[in-house]
Formats: sequence, C-alpha cells, structure tokens
Amino acid sequence: MTATRITIEGIEKSFSRAGKRTVAVDRVDLAVEPGEIFFLLGPSGCGKTTLLRMIAGFIEPNKGRILFDSTDVTWAPPNQRQVGMVFQSYALWPHLSVFENVAFGLRVRGVSKSEINARVARALALVQMAEYRDRRPNELSGGQQQRIALARALVVEPRVLLLDEPLSNLDAKLRHELREEIRRVCKSAGTTTVYVTHDQKEALAIADRIAVLRNGKVCQVATPSQLYFEPRDQFVASFVGEINLITASVLSNDGATALLRTEFGDLQSNHVSSRNLRPGEPVVLGVRPERVSLAARANSHLSGYVHGALFLGDHQVITLKSDYSSIRMVTSTRITGLAEGHRVGFTIQPEDAMCFVSG
Ligand code: ATP
Repeated sequence: MTATRITIEGIEKSFSRAGKRTVAVDRVDLAVEPGEIFFLLGPSGCGKTTLLRMIAGFIEPNKGRILFDSTDVTWAPPNQRQVGMVFQSYALWPHLSVFENVAFGLRVRGVSKSEINARVARALALVQMAEYRDRRPNELSGGQQQRIALARALVVEPRVLLLDEPLSNLDAKLRHELREEIRRVCKSAGTTTVYVTHDQKEALAIADRIAVLRNGKVCQVATPSQLYFEPRDQFVASFVGEINLITASVLSNDGATALLRTEFGDLQSNHVSSRNLRPGEPVVLGVRPERVSLAARANSHLSGYVHGALFLGDHQVITLKSDYSSIRMVTSTRITGLAEGHRVGFTIQPEDAMCFVSG
C-alpha cells in the first residue's frame, strides 16, 4: 500500500463554554508528506490535541478541509478514515492476551484466521514483542504495553497513524529508549504518522518535520535541525532547545553582516535572521549555550564576570554576567581555575548570533 499524504486547509475549531469562546485551532494549513513522521509540538493548550482529533474524526472543525490524498475526509466518521491511534494511556484490554489485543482489529474486520496469525506475528516482531504474545497487559511494563498499543494500531495497516503523547506515562529512561524504537517502527511500516507532544527533545529526536504551535496557530514548520538553528522567532527559539536571549542594538548592517552592540561588547552576526535589520533597531540576540566559547584573553571583544561554574561530568555550565544581562555557556572541554567575579573573554561566531526583533 502506498503511503497517504495529509492536507489540512484553513482548519478552524473553537469551543464555547459558559458563554466564553476559546479558539483552539486557528486557520491552520499543513501538508504531511506520504510516509513522513510529522510532529505537532507546542505548550499545553496550544491546540495540538484538538488538531489531532480532527484528523482522527473525533472532532468536527468549524471551517476548513482535511484530505487524505485526494479524498476529503473532513466529515467522515473515524471508522471510515482508516486511522490507527496510540494514546498516552495504552488502552489495552486487560482480559485479553497480547496476541488477542493485537488481533482484535483484524477479527472485527473479518480477516481469516491464517492471515491474522501471520499479521499479528509480523506486528509483534516489528515492536520486538514476539515472545510476549501469551501474556496479559498487567504482566507487562509500561514501555512493553505501549509497544503492544503501537503493534495494535499498525496491524490493521492504517492509512495514517496518530500518536497522542505516547511516551508521557513512562519514566525518563524508557522514554529515551522508546524514542528510537518508535522512529524505527514507524519508518519500517512506512505509514504517514502525526505525533503530538509538548516535549521538544522527543520531537527533535523522532521527527522528520515539526510544526510548532502557539495559541492555535502554526509558528513554523521545519526539520528538527532547521528549527534548532534557524528558528523563525523568539518563541520557537526558546521553546525548542535552550537559548540565551540578550538585549542588543544594531550598529550597522550591510545586508550580509550586522554589527550588534550588547552589554558584553560588540559582535557580528551573519545569521539569516540578521539580514533585514536596520541600524538603530532594538533586537534580541539569541545564542545557544554550546555555541559560546571562552576566549584565551579577557580583553576579547566580548567579556563578562564569572557568576557560576557547574561541573556535570560530561559537560560544564558556566554563567557569565554583566550589569543587567547574563549568558550561559555549555562546554565539554575541561576548564579549571574559573574564579567567581573574575572577568573573562568569550567568543560567538557570526553564524551563531541569531537576531529577533524585540517586542
Ligand atoms: P495539552 O498539551 O495540555 O493537552 P493541547 O495543546 O493539546 O494541550 P488542546 O487540548 O487542543 O491543547 O486545547 C486547546 C484549547 O482548547 C485549550 O484552551 C482548551 O482548554 C480548549 N479546549 C479543548 N477542548 C475543549 C472542549 N471540549 N471544551 C472547551 N474547551 C476546550
């Protein structure tokens, strides 16, 4: 079966409650490519679950269309959309074995016994749970139950797989392990996948592309590395990864390189975000902590006072201050002898200096 493209056009959904109207999803346009693992990422209440539930058919939009390839499914009930869903709570049937849980969707579709045996075996092998086929859900760990939920969703060969915070009930170690597993399983099944989370690290690790949502609107759609290195605005920059945000002003800009003034000193930016800045404009400088390096000399262009230095084994976090600003740097190089209050120089490469219009 060839994978399905999902097209979302001008989708809107608002809820009215006690005379108050909440716009949960606000004119969203998205295209999810066939076979893609696509994330809806954003803070609590940004509308990601509402959007996912509209793709599944559990909620009807007020406006807009949802297409699976060229079929308009906007008003189709969930059971006619051929979607598979995996929820936060695994929602397995406690009285059925692992095999029967996975087989259930095939039995209700009237699939033959021999085909059920073959397809369930394939699905269990895909999630590496073949040897657990006779256990009950209460004899499995949370991570194993979620693998079974994934096998159950995939065994019916859905056109679209929808995952709603599937890892949030698991402890941190299992979450990390299952990230790689989910990506491997979805990619080998080849099913178009839409995955909802508020965990940016999960999204960066698993996604092909991510839509960052805020207040029901899409802020940016990009690959994980584009989002990290070229965030469109301050919100995306601070939601995806850690970032230092420092008040700055533009001294000059020739279209290729802007010169910025900060409390720590002057620096150049040739990051794509600095291209259209006008001299005199107040901006916010954004720089990732791992892109700040200590300079050999204290009288480098940029300098600050050591405020703190944390040794964390594989890396060290150093905080430098000026009068009103502070900047954190993360380094894996062994640095010793940093005395609190001492002035030290640091460097930021022009390509790492992101600029955001303040306000
Ligand atoms: P979370 O990560 O907390 O689940 P979310 O990004 O998935 O958040 P939604 O559940 O889609 O957000 O909710 C978006 C907005 O719509 C919120 O303000 C929420 O309170 C509101 N909302 C969602 N469902 C309803 C409903 N049935 N009735 C009224 N308001 C609702």
